[in-house]
Amino acid sequence: MATKFSDNPNRPPSIVHRPSSTVHRHIVALAGGVGGAKLAHGLAQVLPPEDLTVIVNTGDDFEHLGLYICPDLDTVCYTLAGLANPETGWGRVDETWNAIANIEKLGGPAWFRLGDQDLATHLERTRRLKEGQTLSQITSDFCKAWGISQKVLPMSDSPVRTMVDSDEGVLAFREYFVHRRREPRVKGFRFDGVEVAGPAPGVREALESAEAVVICPSNPWVSIDPILKVIKTIDKPVVAVSPIIGGKTVKGPAAKMYAELGIEPSALAVARHYRTILTAFVLDNADAAIESEIKKLNIKTLVADTLMNEVQNRARLANEVLRFIGSS
Ligand code: GDP
Repeated sequence: MATKFSDNPNRPPSIVHRPSSTVHRHIVALAGGVGGAKLAHGLAQVLPPEDLTVIVNTGDDFEHLGLYICPDLDTVCYTLAGLANPETGWGRVDETWNAIANIEKLGGPAWFRLGDQDLATHLERTRRLKEGQTLSQITSDFCKAWGISQKVLPMSDSPVRTMVDSDEGVLAFREYFVHRRREPRVKGFRFDGVEVAGPAPGVREALESAEAVVICPSNPWVSIDPILKVIKTIDKPVVAVSPIIGGKTVKGPAAKMYAELGIEPSALAVARHYRTILTAFVLDNADAAIESEIKKLNIKTLVADTLMNEVQNRARLANEVLRFIGSS
């Protein structure tokens, strides 16, 4: 059995600034959008700001209404800044929708819901990109403006585009996911530009100074694979948190996508997918029965409550993950 910290009488209080048993030099978190942002937020609550770098997928970035949109980067930043909509996990809290309503009245595309505050982010980012600034410079400036003191880095300043090979042809990921509502059958993914896209400034340095890399509970095939392909190698301990709980995704329709790809939606499939880089794996209590299968892959395991719908659960899970890293 893996250590269950919930059974541990020495379990730390739910929010501590440095887990007492371990001195963490630096944690690098790899994140996609909604699931990734939640654990990144938990880590941000329990680590000193200088000890956390979040590297975010940019494969979903796309141009829409003439604007450069970074769905995962914005979800992570809004979440860390406390600006995210708690209902959806994406977009801004207290949002208004005047611009998109008027675009729709004019016959323009309204399938990608852009709120008024959110639009400001895309307008200003696009203006700066057109001036020649890099995505990482812009992200750093936006983080300062939003009061985020952790480092948030796009995986690359060069474009990488996640393309979905489907029975209706090749579609850009957001086109498939939002506009076509996952209806086309998925045959596979490719990440255009990934071979030549180098890591953004700061990514290599963060990985070099990391004690460990935490793969957040994001979609492994869509959100994390592009990051892993850009950074190419990791020579630090890697712990992943399963985005699949009890054979299901927490929210969202990824299960249909998995089935079409011939992937059984399970924590075991996630562990298998990452097995060449994983030191340790965190699976949900609901999946405790498959822990022994994961151990057979020579991967250490922690069984925990990995659902982070409530903000306090994020810090609790982050603390458990950090303790686990310290003990692994
Ligand atoms: P996207 O880019 O917005 O689709 O987001 P991600 O790739 O970061 O996350 C999608 C995955 O996050 C899905 O597989 C969800 O099951 C998972 N997820 C969302 N919320 C949670 C949570 O609270 N706990 C865990 N373990 N996984 C979650």
